[in-house]
Amino acid sequence: MTTEILIIGAGPAGTIAAAYLHKQGFKVTIIEKTKFPRFVIGESLLPLSMDHFKEVDLLECLEKQNFEVKSGARFIRGKEICLFDFSKKYTKGADWTWQVPRADFDKTLADEVEKRGVEIFYEHEVIEVSFNEDSSSVTKFRDKEGNIKEISARFIVDASGYGQVLPRLLDLEVPSTLPKHSSIFTHLKDVKRPNGKEGTLISFDIVKPDVWLWVIPFSNGNTSIGFAGPTEFINSYKGTNEEVLREMLKMSDYYYERFADVEFSFEPHKLLNYSTASKQLYGKGYVLTGNSAEFLDPVFSSGVAFATTSSLLAAKLIDRTLRDEKVDWEKEYTQHIKHGVDVFKSYINEWYNTNLQKLFFHQPENPDVKEKICSVLAGYVWDETNPFVKKHDRVVSSMVHMLNNE
Ligand code: FAD
Repeated sequence: MTTEILIIGAGPAGTIAAAYLHKQGFKVTIIEKTKFPRFVIGESLLPLSMDHFKEVDLLECLEKQNFEVKSGARFIRGKEICLFDFSKKYTKGADWTWQVPRADFDKTLADEVEKRGVEIFYEHEVIEVSFNEDSSSVTKFRDKEGNIKEISARFIVDASGYGQVLPRLLDLEVPSTLPKHSSIFTHLKDVKRPNGKEGTLISFDIVKPDVWLWVIPFSNGNTSIGFAGPTEFINSYKGTNEEVLREMLKMSDYYYERFADVEFSFEPHKLLNYSTASKQLYGKGYVLTGNSAEFLDPVFSSGVAFATTSSLLAAKLIDRTLRDEKVDWEKEYTQHIKHGVDVFKSYINEWYNTNLQKLFFHQPENPDVKEKICSVLAGYVWDETNPFVKKHDRVVSSMVHMLNNE
C-alpha cells in the first residue's frame, strides 16, 4: 500500500491534519487502533480550537451535533466563586466552544474527513516504522485478526495520543517536568441537574489546594465528573474505582448532594501519571502532534486546543516541505509549539502552588487582569500583546506579591 501522508490516530489531532492536507490535494491515510465511537477523556474544549475547525471546514459538521455550549468556566473554592466569561477576554477570536462527549465528537470529525476521501483503517495498530534515506517511510500495522500489512508514505504525522507511537518506537520519550499527577473519572446520568445555567455550567471545584473535581455537563443529559491531583493522594484511597470516586465526592460540599446516589455510566477509569513529553517534536519524515508530543495537565482544558494547534501547524509545514519549500522546522514548529506549552506550564505551576487561585478569588476583582487571564484560559497563549502571555513566567507571582502587600 502507498500513501502520501500517513496519520497515526483518528483523534482531533489526526483528523484536523487530515482535513488540511487532504484539502491541499494530498492522498491521506489514517491508521486507528480502535473502532469508533470510542471513549476518551478530554471533554471541555477551548475557544481557540474553534478557529482551527473553521479554517479546515470542520465547524459545520460539529455544529449539527448540538453539543453543550461552553461560554466560560467557573472555579469554586468552598463558598467562593470565580466566573470567567469568554466574551470578556482580551484577545480577539472565538468566544465560545463546546463541552463534548469525545466518543461522539471524535467520530463526527473522523466521519467527515472520511466522507471527503481520507482513508481510515479502524482496528489497525501501528507496530513498526522504518525511514528511508530520502525520509520516506515504511510502516507496519496489524489488523484485528493479527495480519501484518505495510504502507509506505512520504510523511508521517504521529497523532497517536497516549499511544505515543513514534516516541516509543524511536526512543524519544522523556519524563514530564511537571509533578506526578493522576486522575479518576466517569460519566453519570445527571438526574438531579438543576435547571438553567447552574445545571450546565462547566465547573472546577477545588477540594484541596492541589486536588480538584471537574463537572462537565453534556447536552445529552449526562455529565462527566473526575478528580485530578497528586498521584500519591489519588492512590491513598483504597477499594474499587467506583468506591474510590464515591468516597472522594464527599470532599465536594458544592456537588455531593447532586451526585452522591446517582448511578455511574461505567466503572470509573483511573489514569496514573498522565503528563507526557518527548525529546524532540519532529525528525526527517515525521512530526509529533497533540498528546503524542506533550500533555501537561487537565486543569485548564488545554489538551485538545494543543492538539488542534500543533496538528494544523504541522500540516501546513508538511505541505510546504513536500512542495520543496524551505521550512525551518526547529523555529517554525518546535519553538512555536514550545512557547505555548511554556505559557500553559507557568499557569499550571502557579495553579498548584496556589498563587493563581489567590488571584482568581481575590476581591474586589480586577476586570483588567481578569480579561487577560481569560484569554489564556480560552487558549490564546500565543498572543504576545497580552502581558499575561508575554510575562507568563512571573506575572502571576508578582501580582500575588502585590496583593499580599496591600
Ligand atoms: P487522542 O484523542 O488520544 O487520539 C489518539 C488516537 O490514536 C486514539 O484514538 C488511539 O486509539 C490512536 N492510537 C494510539 N496508538 C495507536 C497505534 N499504535 N496505532 C494506531 N492508532 C493508535 N483536554 C481538553 O482539551 N479538555 C479537557 O477537559 C481535558 N481533560 C482531560 C482530563 C484528563 C484526566 C486527562 C488525562 C486529559 C485531559 N485532556 C483534556 C487531554 C486530552 O485527553 C488530550 O489532550 C486529547 O485527547 C489529545 O488528542 P489527540 O488527538 O492528540 O489524542
